[in-house]
Amino acid sequence: MAAIITRLAKRASTAPLSPLARRCLISCQVNSHAPPHAAARFPTREDPSDRRVQWVFLGCPGVGKGTYASRLSSLLGVPHIATGDLVRDELASSGPLSSQLSEIVKQGQLVSDEIIINLLSKRLVAAEAKGELGFILDGFPRTIKQAEILEGVTDIDLVINLKLREDVLLEKCLGRRICNQCGGNFNVASIDIKAENGSPGMVMAPLLPPVNCMSKLITRSDDTEAVVKERLRIYNEMTQPVEEFYRRRGKLLEFNLPGGIPESWPKLLRALNLDDCEDKRSAAA
Ligand code: ADP
Repeated sequence: MAAIITRLAKRASTAPLSPLARRCLISCQVNSHAPPHAAARFPTREDPSDRRVQWVFLGCPGVGKGTYASRLSSLLGVPHIATGDLVRDELASSGPLSSQLSEIVKQGQLVSDEIIINLLSKRLVAAEAKGELGFILDGFPRTIKQAEILEGVTDIDLVINLKLREDVLLEKCLGRRICNQCGGNFNVASIDIKAENGSPGMVMAPLLPPVNCMSKLITRSDDTEAVVKERLRIYNEMTQPVEEFYRRRGKLLEFNLPGGIPESWPKLLRALNLDDCEDKRSAAA
C-alpha cells in the first residue's frame, strides 16, 4: 500500500503538491522499511500472500455502484473506497476545501484530479495504518487522466461496469435517501417498467429504511433532476472513455443489472465466480 500512496502522490505532483499530498508522501517514506527502489515496486510481485483484490466499479450515477461495491467489500474483506464519500466527508468537515467543493458538487461537476488524488492518498494512508489490504474503488477513476495515474501506480485486476437504462437511473437518483444519523443508504423509488417492443420490463422494489431511520432521511443536494441530468451528461462525456480504456486492456466486465438487489446480487456473484464464496459465508453465519 505504501508504494501505491507514494506513487500516487508523485503522480499528483505534475501539478504542485498540496500540503496534504506532501504529508502523504513524507509519511509513506518515513514509514517504509523497504529501500527506496523496493518501495517503488508493486507489492504483489514481492509477496503474493499480501495480495487481495484491487477492483474498480464504473457506472452512471444511481446505478448502484455503492451498494454492490460495499457488499463485495464485506464478502472479500477489502475496503470499499468511494471517492464521492471522501468528497462528502470533506464537505461535512468544513475544512479549507469545503466551500470550493460545495459549489462544484452542487452543480454536478467533477472536482479537480489533484483534489481527488489528495483525498484518495489520505484515505490510503488511513487504510495502511489499519493494515487493510486490497480495495474496491467506487467513483474513481472518472477521467482518462485519473485512469492513467492509477495505471502508473498499481495493477487493477478487474473493472466492473454496472449498467441500467437511463430513465431508471434518474428515478433511482431521485429516490435516494440517506439516514443523517446512521449514514445508511436507502431508496424510496418503486420501479415497475412493463416489457415493450421486445425490450424486457424491469421491477425494482424500494429499499426502505428501518422505522427508527424514517424521520431522519435526507436527500443529497446533488440528487435533484437538473443536477442528475448534468451528472449523467458529464459521465457520458468524461467517464465513458474510461470504460473503453479498460476494455482495450481486457479488464472490463460489463454487467447489465437485471433488476433490484435480490435478482442482481446472485447473478453478479456468478459473473464474478464468487457464488461459492457467498455460499460458504452464509453457511458459516
Ligand atoms: P454519483 O452518484 O454521481 O456516482 P458520487 O457519490 O460518486 O456520485 O460523487 C459525488 C460527487 O463527488 C461527484 O459528482 C463529483 O463532484 C465528486 N467526485 C467523486 N469522485 C470523483 C472523481 N473521481 N473525480 C472528480 N470528482 C469526483
